[in-house]
Amino acid sequence: MTDSHASTTPGPAFSSLSLPPAVLENLLRLGYERMTPIQAAALPLALAGKDLIAQAKTGSGKTAAFALPLLANLNPRRFAVQALVLCPTRELAEQVTQELRRLARAEDNIKILTLCGGATMRPQIASLAHGAHIVVGTPGRILDHLSRETLPLDALNTLVLDEADRMLDMGFAEDIATVVQRCPKQRQTLLFSATYPEGVVKLATRFMRDPQQVKLTERHATTKIRQRFYEVKEGERLHAVGLLLDHYRPVSTLAFCNTKQQCRDLVAVLQGQGVVALELHGDLDQRERDQVLVQFANGSCSVLVATDVAARGLDIAHLEAVINVDITPEIEVHTHRVGRTGRADEAGWAFSLASVDEMGRVGRIDEMQGSASQWHPLSELTPAATGPLRPPMATLQILGGRKEKIRAGDVLGALTKDMGFEAAQIGKINVNEFSTYVAVEQGIADEAARRLNAGKVKGKAVKVRRL
Ligand code: AMP
Repeated sequence: MTDSHASTTPGPAFSSLSLPPAVLENLLRLGYERMTPIQAAALPLALAGKDLIAQAKTGSGKTAAFALPLLANLNPRRFAVQALVLCPTRELAEQVTQELRRLARAEDNIKILTLCGGATMRPQIASLAHGAHIVVGTPGRILDHLSRETLPLDALNTLVLDEADRMLDMGFAEDIATVVQRCPKQRQTLLFSATYPEGVVKLATRFMRDPQQVKLTERHATTKIRQRFYEVKEGERLHAVGLLLDHYRPVSTLAFCNTKQQCRDLVAVLQGQGVVALELHGDLDQRERDQVLVQFANGSCSVLVATDVAARGLDIAHLEAVINVDITPEIEVHTHRVGRTGRADEAGWAFSLASVDEMGRVGRIDEMQGSASQWHPLSELTPAATGPLRPPMATLQILGGRKEKIRAGDVLGALTKDMGFEAAQIGKINVNEFSTYVAVEQGIADEAARRLNAGKVKGKAVKVRRL
């Protein structure tokens, strides 16, 4: 193995890579101006066709580091599966699919399918029969398709193992081995892993050809918040929020409004568009507030809408975007709002919508930040073909909590051991005093609620509803 170490100096521009102009243009449109360290280290090797073992975590830009080589290997005119990405969970598979869709926009009609457990087989089989270029999925379900001969892999040229360490932790080693054996020998294999336990090294030696190793020697400390301003007319402000969500497709967004009325109006507009948006406001009692926050934190609500007062003291990890629906008159508040995204080494977006009347405020923000705002036209926001933004998870509320001595393990056990779901399909479980909230993958939510209502938790019948 050859080691290549990435530095932490600002990354080179994507234009230094041999990528087609349409791809470079699309990257700029997405706001990817410079390569992240993992991309700078991995892309030249991967685009040259090398097998790669790369150490990278979520937030490092790793998806693009394998997506761009995978797309470069792809022939869109050939209607066959040419790339397979294996992920540990449905959640990650959805994220990878979204990022692939964003990056694939430079090309016409690249079909990407997500195949994960939990969803019914039949629609997946039908979609496969229609043809796909790229398949993203969890090892168990991919194996399922291989054994039913519904997923031909003879045209495959790129295989990606994403979060390999986590897949091994989840007991997927044998499934992965079986899937790899079904792939053509002539292929490029890209393995991404946050850590290098022995199992990962074994995987690599078994299935890779002279893999190049890419390590990050130091953590990237600079802030990764990307701010963009959009000029709006008063009448299009709320609609513009929907456009931003449709274009950038962040998994979780905190939207700030200056007034409660604006919050209420925005939630109504977003819900009308089919977006799962909830309002956090001062009139909620503690239980209602908990319910909103639980849903946002567990991935079943895409947008949390709040005033600055209501959002005070919120600590939310994994916020992909902040939207300033209005520009705040207090400049420090703007910095505070924006600082909520891009935490803990993760990249984040901060979008601000400003009307002509608010330009004075933006000028003061520029002054304080010591740099000019980046303005973008609303007209560049184009909806993705995949319909309204959907959250990956849904929340089930079990009436019964600590008072009934319910523990998270009881609920997980009931869902996996008694009701036949996979642990990977179950998300966060929050046990409150009188209620328990379970996040489950969207696709199994109704069925999980039905089985819970018909079954027992801790030996007792329970009442369950989907929020
Ligand atoms: P990932 O680690 O792949 O989950 O990526 C984290 C976030 O960074 C995603 O929202 C990407 O859209 C974004 N991203 C990836 N590469 C770049 C780049 N070179 N410049 C700016 N943002 C990026």
